[in-house]
Amino acid sequence: MNSRTGETGVSVTSGEECRAIFSQAIGENRTYLMEHECKEILESMGIATTGFLVAGSEDEAVEMSNTLGYPVVLKIVSPDVVHKTDSGGVKLNLADEDAVRAAYGEIVGAFKYQHIIGVAVQKMADPGVEAIIGVTRDPNFGPVLMFGLGGIFVEVLKDVTFRVLPVTLQDIDEMIQEIKGYPLLKGYRGKAVDIDALKNLLLKISELVLTFPEIRELDLNPVFLYPRGNMTVDARMFVSPAPEAVSQQASGNTVEQMRTLFYPGSIAVLGATSVEGKLGYNVFRNLLFHKFAGKLYPINPKSESVQGVKAYRSITEVPDPVDLAIVLVPASAAVTAVEECCRKGVKIIVVETAGFAETGADGKAAQEKIREIIKAHGCRLLGPNCSGVINTHVGNVQSIGLVEELGKGNIGMTAQAGVYAAGILTGLRHVMNFGIVATIGNKMDISETDILEYLGSDDHIDVVAMYMEDVKSGRRFIDVASEVTKKKPVIALKGGRTAAGTKVVSSHTASLAGNDEINSAAFRQSGIIRARDNEHLFGLLKAFARQPLPRGDGILVITYTGSLGVAATDTLYLNGMRLAELEPELKERLKGILPDYVTSLNPVDYSFSMDAEQLRKTIELGIVSEDVGGLIVVLQGEILGSFVDTLRSIDYKGKPILSCVAVKEFMMEDVILMEKAGFPVYSTVEMAAEILADMYRYSLRKDRQAQA
Ligand code: ADP
Ligand code: MG
Repeated sequence: MNSRTGETGVSVTSGEECRAIFSQAIGENRTYLMEHECKEILESMGIATTGFLVAGSEDEAVEMSNTLGYPVVLKIVSPDVVHKTDSGGVKLNLADEDAVRAAYGEIVGAFKYQHIIGVAVQKMADPGVEAIIGVTRDPNFGPVLMFGLGGIFVEVLKDVTFRVLPVTLQDIDEMIQEIKGYPLLKGYRGKAVDIDALKNLLLKISELVLTFPEIRELDLNPVFLYPRGNMTVDARMFVSPAPEAVSQQASGNTVEQMRTLFYPGSIAVLGATSVEGKLGYNVFRNLLFHKFAGKLYPINPKSESVQGVKAYRSITEVPDPVDLAIVLVPASAAVTAVEECCRKGVKIIVVETAGFAETGADGKAAQEKIREIIKAHGCRLLGPNCSGVINTHVGNVQSIGLVEELGKGNIGMTAQAGVYAAGILTGLRHVMNFGIVATIGNKMDISETDILEYLGSDDHIDVVAMYMEDVKSGRRFIDVASEVTKKKPVIALKGGRTAAGTKVVSSHTASLAGNDEINSAAFRQSGIIRARDNEHLFGLLKAFARQPLPRGDGILVITYTGSLGVAATDTLYLNGMRLAELEPELKERLKGILPDYVTSLNPVDYSFSMDAEQLRKTIELGIVSEDVGGLIVVLQGEILGSFVDTLRSIDYKGKPILSCVAVKEFMMEDVILMEKAGFPVYSTVEMAAEILADMYRYSLRKDRQAQA
């Protein structure tokens, strides 16, 4: 077969020939393509391999070897043998005809009880840097590309990286640079590999897998990488009939629909009541207490009025149009309630009631019934089994728990569970303000991706937080997140990191691809910042929500204790940042401020003599310095209060400042003063330094995206 491909693509002719190979294998009920079949496909795309000749007899093997030139390699060709070396099916470095004859006999002898197609005859490839390239399919994200270095790098160190397909050139660049073995590729003892050819190979493999959904999994293991070009030495594919493409398209006007969820003109509450302690009491009381900026219609067949507001027996009796309905009636009555809402022409239905798919077969059936109803009417549904949304900007507080006064903040958040969302709102009320919180519950219809897409476009929201247990919409999630992260930071905390995968694994690639690796890849690919734990999440949120992004990697550290200065320095460098170098004239001015015994100019260490005035002057030098991209100040908890007004009076000219107060838990009053003034406080300087680095990385990516 000739190679008639374009730069990266699968040409029409090679496409037909590839398809014929897949059809034949699938027609024979095989799930596995043998090496020579794979290599024929690869060659047709212009990928260099050791060839796909198969000999049917010893004489033919010798003839082929003579034509190829020695040394050669012989390998078993059998649909029953996946790991050829294990059972003596690979004979390397055969120098002459005699060696070929001997090897042929040994291979045929070793596999006499298997179905043998023949013996492959290949050129012995020159040694190179061994790499592995693979593709596996994730049930949620679809095909995923893997790259890593072969040999012990993959076997022992699991030094591999993933990206969800399709990939951009930027993704491929990042994959190559991300593996720990990257220095071996870039150049080691004067030898480097052809990175462009490697990128091209990765692109071609992506193209191949996207063109042929029949390819379920693929391993090129090994590929030898050379200073010029590369050589695929072994290949295998697992195939299955092409699955139906599942549409992950959102309905075209998601953003407009979600705007109605967060900014409805009117809300009806089905199950609103004046009886304290009931959910229907809490939800309606929240809307009244937070002064919802729209019309409210309590729906209750047994009351004339609810909490002082005229009530209706059914939503269909409300004389005006209703944008959004909150359903709080028991699960048994919810189907009818949803039906009535649809008849009324409600655009968004929020089902907070529990007792659906999460409880078993009956609940599942009810949920399915609801799905059909809303589909027929074209409205959207949040939940069931959720705690609604909160939008503090218009007092739209739908929570099932009573919620006290909230600030109008610039953080938007999605969470699966209502209790979690309520907990953080209450707990963090003093140190950070959320603007929008959405709980998605069973996410029967509206998903985290819909909310994310919307939050990207809401002008009140500068930072998006996602607390997620599972990511559903796969590729659409990545596409949406990639767009949102161009505009504002998205920070995700993903639960279930260690959940063991239960999928059946056949390829090497699949065995290396745990669910969490794929999630991580999806996050990285779309520019989402992944938080390690809740503390990290909130630490990131308050910095991104309150402080500007660093415009450079040089940081000025101001401390009262040398050891925390050292800790800050270490963490900065470990995270790709550095200490800033003040200009000579600024250094002189700084020396004038410092006590005589202080010698270090960054970290600036005041050792217990720091006062507010010195701090102000030092910070101002940092703001003037061209080399300072951001500041970290380590403040003494006992006198924290004395710094707050000074810090507030400084013009930072767009430079971020993060503070550390060791064991801040014991001086929370002053810490809250600081936080309320817009200065994020961390109890470890490592956290402050790491977060500044996260912010800087995000700003670099944002700039790069803006240029692209
Ligand atoms: P399998 O993975 O099924 O055991 P391979 O085809 O990968 O079999 O062969 C095993 C090893 O032999 C490879 O990892 C590679 O190091 C070496 N090898 C195989 N074919 C060649 C070849 N044509 N040229 C050089 N080395 C080869
Ligand atoms: Mg192999």
